[in-house]
Amino acid sequence: MALIVHKYGGTSMGSTERIRNVAKRVAKWARAGHQMVVVPSAMSGETNRLLGLAKELSPGATTPELQRELDMIASTGEQVSVGLLAIALQAEGMQAVSYAGWQVPILTDDSYTKARIQSIDDKRVRCDLEAGKVVIITGFQGIDDNGHITTLGRGGSDTSAVAVAAAMKADECLIYTDVDGVYTTDPRIVAEARRLHTISFEEMLEMASLGSKVLQIRSVEFAGKYRVPLRVLSSFTPWDIDIAEEAKSGTLITFEEDEKMEQAVVSGIAFNRDEAKVSLLGVPDKPGIAYQILGPVAEANIDVDVIIQNVGHDGKTDFSFTVHRNDYQRTMDLLKAEVIPKAGGAQLSGDPKICKVSIVGIGMRSHVGVASRMFSALSDEGINIQMITTSEIKTSVVIDEKYMELAVRALHRTFDLDQPPA
Ligand code: ADP
Ligand code: ASP
Ligand code: MG
Repeated sequence: MALIVHKYGGTSMGSTERIRNVAKRVAKWARAGHQMVVVPSAMSGETNRLLGLAKELSPGATTPELQRELDMIASTGEQVSVGLLAIALQAEGMQAVSYAGWQVPILTDDSYTKARIQSIDDKRVRCDLEAGKVVIITGFQGIDDNGHITTLGRGGSDTSAVAVAAAMKADECLIYTDVDGVYTTDPRIVAEARRLHTISFEEMLEMASLGSKVLQIRSVEFAGKYRVPLRVLSSFTPWDIDIAEEAKSGTLITFEEDEKMEQAVVSGIAFNRDEAKVSLLGVPDKPGIAYQILGPVAEANIDVDVIIQNVGHDGKTDFSFTVHRNDYQRTMDLLKAEVIPKAGGAQLSGDPKICKVSIVGIGMRSHVGVASRMFSALSDEGINIQMITTSEIKTSVVIDEKYMELAVRALHRTFDLDQPPA
C-alpha cells in the first residue's frame, strides 16, 4: 500500500462529467489499496471569472487591502471543486472528505496573491486516511499566521499538491492535466512537439521558470528540495485503464542525470509572453547607476528579470530590464516619478509587447556553439534579438512578441526536437 497524491488541473475538473471521471479514477486507485490525497484546481475558467468580477469593481487598484480580498475571492473556486469531487466520490461508494487549505491547515506567508507555503500540518489528513477516507484538499491556497486566506499565484495547485506530498512523504505525486506529459515545447504552439519520457529536475526547473506553465515553478522547487517523485500525465485517458500502465505513463521528473539524457543538447524550448521591457536611455555612466534605477523597483516589490546595460559613450549609457507585464505601468510610473528627475536628462521608453524565448538543456554544459546556433536560426527568420541572457543550461532571448511562434518553431526544428533522440 502506498500513499499517493493526485492533482487535477482546471480542464480535468471542467464539468460535472469530468469530475465524475476524476472520481472514478481516484476510486480505482483507492480500491487498489492506496491511501489517496487529491488536490484539485478550480473548474477551468473559474479563477479568471472570479478575478474578473473583482476587476469590474476596481480596475486599476493594487493595494494590499485589495490583494487580500482577491485571495478571499479566488480561493472559492477550489472550494467548490473539492466539495463536488467529494460528492462524486461518495456517489462511487467511497468515503471522502474535503478540506480548504485553512482547515488542514496549510500555513503560508502573508504575500497575498503569491504566498509561499511554510508548513503543512498533516495530522487531520492522516487520521482520515487511516479511517479509510479519500482526502481532498483545495489547491492554490493556505492561511497566514493571522488567519487571512492566501493564494499561491496562478497555477499554484501544482505547488499545493507537491507540498502536501512532501509533507506527508508520499510515495508519488501524480499531476494529471490536459496533455499527456511534458513536451519538448508547448504542443499547442508546435504540432511536432514530442513528449519526453523523462526530464531532469534541473531542466524542468528551468522550463517552468522560463514560462512552461505545465508545472508551476514552485512545485518543481518543492519536488527538488524534498525529492518528491513527480510525474505529469493525462487525465483524459479512459479512467479504467490498467493502473500499472497508467502509473508508467506521462513524463517522470528525474533527479539523477543519466548518460542518455546528456545526449540531447537542447531538451526543450520555453517561452513567456508575460514580460515587458523598460529602457532608460542616456543615463549617467557612473558607479551606482544600476542601484539608483533598480533600488526603487525592488522596494516596490517588483521582480526584475533580464537586465542589460550597454557600453557607455560620452559619460552616458542605456539601461534596459524586463518586468512582469502586470507590473509594467507601475514600473514606468515609478521611474518617471523617482528616477528620471535625478538621472540627468535620461529618457524613459517601454515596450509591453515583447516575449522571452529560451532553449533549455543540461547537454549545453558540455557543448559549445549552442547559443550561436540559436542566434543563427533566429537571424535566418529575420527576427531581431533585443536582449540575451544565458546560464549554464539555458539561453534566453527577448524578441518582439509578434515573432514568438515563428521563433519557437524555428528553434524546435534547428535543435531536431521533433526527432526522437539517437
Ligand atoms: P492544468 O489546468 O492541468 O494545471 P495548465 O494549463 O496549467 O493545466 O498546464 C497545461 C498546459 O501547459 C498544456 O495544456 C500546454 O498547453 C501547456 N504547456 C506549456 N509548455 C508545455 C510543455 N513543454 N509540455 C506540455 N505542456 C506545456
Ligand atoms: N485555479 C488556479 C489558477 O487558475 C490555480 C491552478 O489552477 O493551479 O491559477
Ligand atoms: Mg496549471
